[in-house]
Amino acid sequence: GKQTGRNNFQFYTPAMNEQALERLRIEGDLRNALDHGEFLLHYQPKVDLASGRVVGSEALIRWLHPQLGMVSPARFIGLAEETGLILPIGAWVLRTACTQCRQWQLAGHDDISVSVNLSVGQFLQKDLVSSIADVLADTGLPPASLEIELTESLMMTDVEHAIGILAGMKKLGIRLSIDDFGTGYSSLAYLKRFPIDVLKIDRSFVRDITIDADDAAITASIISLARHLKLRVIAEGVETDEQLDYLRHYGCDEIQGYLFSPPVAAEKFEQILREERVI
Ligand code: C2E
Ligand code: CA
Ligand code: CA
Ligand code: CA
Repeated sequence: GKQTGRNNFQFYTPAMNEQALERLRIEGDLRNALDHGEFLLHYQPKVDLASGRVVGSEALIRWLHPQLGMVSPARFIGLAEETGLILPIGAWVLRTACTQCRQWQLAGHDDISVSVNLSVGQFLQKDLVSSIADVLADTGLPPASLEIELTESLMMTDVEHAIGILAGMKKLGIRLSIDDFGTGYSSLAYLKRFPIDVLKIDRSFVRDITIDADDAAITASIISLARHLKLRVIAEGVETDEQLDYLRHYGCDEIQGYLFSPPVAAEKFEQILREERVI
């Protein structure tokens, strides 16, 4: 078996060998996936609790591998970051998501917005702000309809740099959201300095909100913090009616999760919009 510790020795097992091989293979295939058109985006509805209506969508990448089938981002985003492939992939995600959102708007769903996850590599790219501006201009998506989801660790690597980039993005008129809020190392003091619009409560807190008093307290506190800072607050990973009841009670603005809908293909998302499905 595998053993780590002071001596830090490991037995190399066939299973690990297979893992290493799979990794190599995936890395090779990842290099061509964009050219081969193997990526697609799924969209998960964000529901406004005041109106019960879908107000936004989070774009989540999927890789349709010719042999492996649907590969989840958990298996390749890290690799894409390490290899730098996240830059062309991330650019593709941004452009595709904005194009899609604009199409929904032109089909009559004027108020729908789209959220895109940003990786560290993209965040450190010199021309990030101008490339977002280009995509908005090319697709015709109103800046206010685009939200960028950033993680705390991404912003905390270099705070002064981050504040500059965030200010540049805000100037474009797009919205900024802190993803997985509460799991990272951000200092509350910085919340004041970051021009953020939305806090997104991590699924790990939402999951046990009905059974764990600590998770309930953390969730209630994040919602209260957001209110006082005049930020919107959304909970991710909402799966049950009980979780929804708690979140409503605490005054959460929006929810996202399997309870309403998993991430779905673009056509399916538009169907949900057309049906005017409410929670
Ligand atoms: P994330 O940004 O925290 O996205 C939320 C994840 O939770 C998604 O997993 C979503 O499918 C899943 N989820 C949504 N509702 C529920 C629920 O009710 N219960 C449970 N158990 N899970 C739920 P997914 O799509 O596998 O994505 C995983 C992560 O991969 C994302 O976490 C994000 O960090 C990353 N990712 C996905 N797409 C992109 C992308 O285009 N760019 C970058 N940089 N990262 C991405
Ligand atoms: Ca996210
Ligand atoms: Ca999360
Ligand atoms: Ca998240």
